[in-house]
Amino acid sequence: MNPAHHPEEARLMSYALGRLDPSFRLVLESHLAFCEVCRARVSESAAQVVDPVQDVPPQSLPEGLLSSLLSKVRALPAPAAPHCGRETLPLPASVWPLLPELASLRWQGALSPGFRFLRLPSPHSNAELLLLHLRKGCRFPKHGHLGVEQSMILCGGLQDEFGTLEAGDYEESSTDKVHRPMALPDEDCWLISSVEGGVRFSGWRSWFQV
Ligand SMILES: [Zn+2]
Repeated sequence: MNPAHHPEEARLMSYALGRLDPSFRLVLESHLAFCEVCRARVSESAAQVVDPVQDVPPQSLPEGLLSSLLSKVRALPAPAAPHCGRETLPLPASVWPLLPELASLRWQGALSPGFRFLRLPSPHSNAELLLLHLRKGCRFPKHGHLGVEQSMILCGGLQDEFGTLEAGDYEESSTDKVHRPMALPDEDCWLISSVEGGVRFSGWRSWFQV
């Protein structure tokens, strides 16, 4: 089933133009791996950008951008299962190629029982890139966002005051959103998030710190 929650058109256009922050780009590409609709929207955006009728000279595009985009939105190859130490992560095969080498990373705890996260390497990014795991039925503490956060559900689902997100769904949260998400009761929830603002996220850091 295709996801129900998608990035806004402006985000997809920024992606097509190669202007997304690297962490945001990985989260968006995770969604594209699930979402046939958005893959088509990105292809359309890329085609518009290189259409000479649009009065945008093709030579203004970064070299290789279109071929790079098209290769990413095609079906992804099937890689080996991702491992983290002795653990095999139950992540959908469609996102394995998008994640870095996980075995050398260290899980970090939190004040919230049933919650853990990995900080993923994200060179040249202004945002933190996190892989988060919440056991089924567990809650995050209530929190707000001090910058833009983009998240994509990889497995399971989350529910909060604003609705339900399931595998493949994409969500962008701005600074005015305060919520208390809970993993759905039947399956552990895994998500990937890019969080803008770094150490200014004092509300988040208070429970991200070991
Ligand atoms: Zn989509």
